[in-house]
Amino acid sequence: MKPAPFIHHKPRTIEDAVRLIAEFAPDDGRILAGGQSLVPIMAFRMAKPPHLVDINDVAGLDRLEVVDGMLHVGARVRHAAFRQNAAPGPTGAFLGAVMRNIAHHPIRTRGTFCGSLAHADPASEWCAVAALLDAVLVARSLDGQREIPVRDYFEAVMTTALRPDEILVEARLPLLAPDARFGFCEFSRRSGDFAIAMCLVTLRVEQGRIRDARFGIGGAEAFPRRLAEVEAILDGATPGETVWAEAARVAAAALDPLEDAVTSGAYRRDLVQSLALRAFKQVEA
Ligand SMILES: Cc1cc2nc3c(=O)[nH]c(=O)nc-3n(C[C@H](O)[C@H](O)[C@H](O)COP(=O)(O)OP(=O)(O)OC[C@H]3O[C@@H](n4cnc5c(N)ncnc54)[C@H](O)[C@@H]3O)c2cc1C
Repeated sequence: MKPAPFIHHKPRTIEDAVRLIAEFAPDDGRILAGGQSLVPIMAFRMAKPPHLVDINDVAGLDRLEVVDGMLHVGARVRHAAFRQNAAPGPTGAFLGAVMRNIAHHPIRTRGTFCGSLAHADPASEWCAVAALLDAVLVARSLDGQREIPVRDYFEAVMTTALRPDEILVEARLPLLAPDARFGFCEFSRRSGDFAIAMCLVTLRVEQGRIRDARFGIGGAEAFPRRLAEVEAILDGATPGETVWAEAARVAAAALDPLEDAVTSGAYRRDLVQSLALRAFKQVEA
């Protein structure tokens, strides 16, 4: 099918983009970023926005740089930008490793980091990264600019604190410590498909003990989150089979799994236990 008719607006400044989305959002007008989620939805006529505010020419939204220990990711930064080290140290390597799990190469060259956060698919890798790293999301509207901590951002499946008249102009990710290690493991039925579940871990090892453990899940619940009960087990423990097994068991038990026609909650719970173990093993490597 083809999309329903729409009017395409192509502002060049953030002020014009904000003004346009303020005007058209009440009529279901939408921001167009990479179009890799919105356009298929429009083609299926699951969405019929009469106005699209295309932000691909908006100046200043393409920045990808570290400022005061935070990686600033502008609204035009594509998934593919993370292929080379986009940030110093383990943060760049971690983001690169995660990016390789997102869709296929052509989609990665168009789809944007911030578009993924705005779309908030439960299985979005970038949403899981944002939750794991305690990202700050910067939203702009006619009312000005506000910063949304990620813990206040995700509300339900594909539902966020972003208002329809707001543009997510930037995501800010705190950098990992220079000696941080990471693990990422997801499962999807075919390469490039959305994941059924994923586990993410970052930690440091100091004098043989785990420090600053972060553990997150994605794809398995309505939206991604850190699991504090798993982090409590990891922090202070000696890395190895025993703590990995216990932490993976607790991760599975803590889950409030999504269920759908083909994937039961019990299956997702088992999957999280296995994926957590594999992610922990990567930390050892
Ligand atoms: C075959 C296929 C496989 C895919 N597999 C994966 C996958 O494995 N993992 C994954 O994470 N994604 C996957 N995707 C989705 C892809 O990553 C999209 O790029 C991403 O979800 C949305 O980014 P976008 O820039 O394309 O946003 P768009 O499609 O342009 O927009 C998506 C939604 O977000 C809104 N929006 C976009 N940017 C902003 C902004 N800056 N401020 C406010 N609202 C905004 C739009 O209005 C729209 O409602 C897949 C897509 C396809 C087609």
